[in-house]
Amino acid sequence: MQANILFPINAEAFTYLVPEELKGKIKPGMRVLAPFKRGKKVGIVQSTVVSSQKSVVRNQNKDDAASCNTHKEITLKSIEAILDDEPLIPENLLKLIQWVGQYYMSTSGLALKNAVPSGIFEGKKGSRGRITYDHEVTPAKKINLTAEQQKALSEITSSGSGAFLLHGVTGSGKTEIYIRAIEELGDKEAIVLVPEIALTTQIVDRFRARFHDKVVFFHSGLSPGERITSWMKIRKGEAKVALGVRSAVFAPFRNLGLIIIDEEHEASYKQFEGLKYSARDVALARAKIEGIKIILGSATPSIESFYHAKKGKLGYLELTQRIEQRPMPRIEIIDMTKEEKESLSYSKKLLDVLKVNISQGHQSLIMLNRRGYSPFLMCTDCGYTYKCPACSITLTYHKDTKTLNCHYCNSYLKPQDICPECKGIKIKYIGLGTQRIEEELHELLPELNLKRMDRDTTTKKLSHYRIVKDMEDKKIDVLLGTQMVAKGHDFPNVTVAAVVFADVALNLPDFRSSERTFQLFTQLAGRAGRGDVPGEVYIQTYEPDHYVFDHVRNYDHAGFYEKEIELRRELSYPPYSKLIRIVFNFRNKEEGVKIMKGISGKIKRIFPPPTSLPKGGEGVEILGPSPASIEKIRYYWRWHLVLKGKDSRSLRRKAAEIIETLKDVKNVRIDVDVDPINLL
Ligand code: ADP
Ligand code: ZN
Repeated sequence: MQANILFPINAEAFTYLVPEELKGKIKPGMRVLAPFKRGKKVGIVQSTVVSSQKSVVRNQNKDDAASCNTHKEITLKSIEAILDDEPLIPENLLKLIQWVGQYYMSTSGLALKNAVPSGIFEGKKGSRGRITYDHEVTPAKKINLTAEQQKALSEITSSGSGAFLLHGVTGSGKTEIYIRAIEELGDKEAIVLVPEIALTTQIVDRFRARFHDKVVFFHSGLSPGERITSWMKIRKGEAKVALGVRSAVFAPFRNLGLIIIDEEHEASYKQFEGLKYSARDVALARAKIEGIKIILGSATPSIESFYHAKKGKLGYLELTQRIEQRPMPRIEIIDMTKEEKESLSYSKKLLDVLKVNISQGHQSLIMLNRRGYSPFLMCTDCGYTYKCPACSITLTYHKDTKTLNCHYCNSYLKPQDICPECKGIKIKYIGLGTQRIEEELHELLPELNLKRMDRDTTTKKLSHYRIVKDMEDKKIDVLLGTQMVAKGHDFPNVTVAAVVFADVALNLPDFRSSERTFQLFTQLAGRAGRGDVPGEVYIQTYEPDHYVFDHVRNYDHAGFYEKEIELRRELSYPPYSKLIRIVFNFRNKEEGVKIMKGISGKIKRIFPPPTSLPKGGEGVEILGPSPASIEKIRYYWRWHLVLKGKDSRSLRRKAAEIIETLKDVKNVRIDVDVDPINLL
């Protein structure tokens, strides 16, 4: 008997012999100890095979010349011990892990590594005892669902499986539906995915109030010990709900009944490093494998999901009203080319609004989606600007640290007082960042309590939580920040939300940038007027005629969708096609150009011209290779090509073919991104 063993490394399973005495005991999903290279490693049994079958064998002894010879018989090593009495990884989760490895053109091993806490392979036990909380929650109030909520809920509960899009305006009571749907699962369990930034105490407390210690949390702040404890609690069947970010999609439930993805449109569901999976799409795959229900919730559904709802692939549930008929905030676009200004960042109009709002005891949110003080320093004599030595990115000036920071590789340098190019002394700060709009507002209205929320102020473990708490306790008059301020919060006393400089987001060279902008501004608007007093929203821009503002102003998701889907159709971008992006990274620029020339030749042989996308079917179109928009990151020069096709299997096959032809090319690192969410 043989067993295929998966290790949490970037590889497929390795084949081992199963010793006689372990034959009756070994099952897929169990942990085993096996010799690996010159040591030992803990892995998971992926499958077992009876030896007489000629199976494809991968040898674990690659470095071992004596036994590694693919032309002769391979001597397999034997498993040493089985570490579990019953399978630790549930069968369906094991299937999901394999699916992830394959779909994302990665490996099952890397998928396993992403799915299961590393401590599980190190034989570590979780921290002892119960998961502790730092505060008690107030018991849940009894809530009577509105008619719309009731209708949506009964559609969900009356079906045994299937996928739903719950499209509900901000504050329409989506979270309440999630909770009820879970309560009606009987003895079945649920996974709730939220974007990282939305995982605040607010949502956590609401789930704790209903499910008490039966809810387990997954977020990036857990220690390795806490991670194992949470994971084991689920595995032992002691939890009802796993609430968390991306990796919670792999929670080891054995009796799963429902998956919920809140804010399904959020880009942060996609992992950008290593295994580039989308937790939303993995969740859809898991729901299929488990044969269960899944709810995608959003106030601003992604173009893709809305399209699938229209085509009937997702059941469409709509909440059109805020709870208690609270009005949606009025949205005003402020034309900065005409408006009187009090400072670089603030129009007189916005400043007056803020003053009035504070005088009434209300709070305000201000967003500028760019951190730092100013996006560049420039010498006004010669036009010199500082660039990152490692990336083709201008450096952002951070005033608190007096450094120029690269937002791609996190390196920084200290600017000099004189221009490095012409030795001039007229260095200017150009453009706005969150630090600068905070400083300006402080100078204009010194009596206000301001707080900034962006990646720089929220790196410490509980800092994000503290800001939210101070907002709730009304210790902050104005919360300024990046998109972080727009996401998920429920502050009833916030009645004004504003965007300082909307133009930052408008003109990125990416096919999803209008969608992002529409979603972001609508989400921000959703933070205002959630209590008894109606909200107001102000968006300052130098491009007031941009079409996105008409749709934002009128909460016109349908109209925006119609416009956007037409563009996608014309260019045959998703959802009309699927994309796979292949990025080539080179240390040396000139060598990269040379290698890419060679590669282009090889690719032309796989894709003889003309390269076009036939209607439907197996056609695959190729764009590039060409230099990526961001030409250099972390000292690597980047080229990319994008494959476009209707059928994801033929698309993957073509991509695999390309990668296979290139496997002997030296000095290039290849990254594959299946369903990329940007092409920069
Ligand atoms: P969403 O998730 O759509 O933004 P929430 O579920 O957070 O909306 O609901 C907004 C607010 O309304 C919350 O404070 C919630 O407790 C409350 N709420 C939800 N449903 C009801 C209801 N049927 N009756 C009264 N209050 C409700
Ligand atoms: Zn850099």
